[in-house]
Amino acid sequence: MTRHHPDSLSLMEYSAGNLSEPHALCIKLHLDQCPHCRSRVDTLNSLGAVMMDQQPKVTVSETSFAQLLARIDEAPESNTPMVESPRLSPLQKLLGDDINALPWKRQLGDVSVLDISEKFPGQEERVVLQKLVAGGKAPAHTHRGTETTIVLQGAFSDVKGVFNQWDFVVLTDEDVHKPVAIGHEDCITLSILSAPLKLTGTFGRLLNPFMR
Ligand SMILES: [Zn+2]
Repeated sequence: MTRHHPDSLSLMEYSAGNLSEPHALCIKLHLDQCPHCRSRVDTLNSLGAVMMDQQPKVTVSETSFAQLLARIDEAPESNTPMVESPRLSPLQKLLGDDINALPWKRQLGDVSVLDISEKFPGQEERVVLQKLVAGGKAPAHTHRGTETTIVLQGAFSDVKGVFNQWDFVVLTDEDVHKPVAIGHEDCITLSILSAPLKLTGTFGRLLNPFMR
């Protein structure tokens, strides 16, 4: 099964607590299902703790930053089995038990949407659920700004490959895609749509242009 993971920089920002609430949720949902990325975040957290311990302030040179990224990429996969928690998952807390039964709004043809931005008060980003009927096609489209998506149910394919449940994909306004829901289930995704120009926000977000 193809696996599409968040990139190292997103994991670093997650580890440093710099991500917006919806972005952090997307990463968290992925981490809960991906031992590979969990172990990378564990490594980052340990490195972060070491750096915090080193007083006075540590300045990170370009070289050591590159070394840091290399270490994250080399982090061994964790063999820790997923522990099924009896507590509600972050997704259940947000959306209840049955994402298929939400008040979906039929949009074009096979596509339904549900804007859940109001669940993240104070965030500028739009947070949208999209559902593509099993076997259905979405019309070809581009994206304004950056769209970060995680697959919550089912799978879709487009020119970039096959995206299964918990796969992570970031699309920019340069990507034109025409997703098709594959498999027997409706494909449901959670997407965060960032405004095209975004200079406000956290320190982490200000760093973004330099980190891509
Ligand atoms: Zn992963």
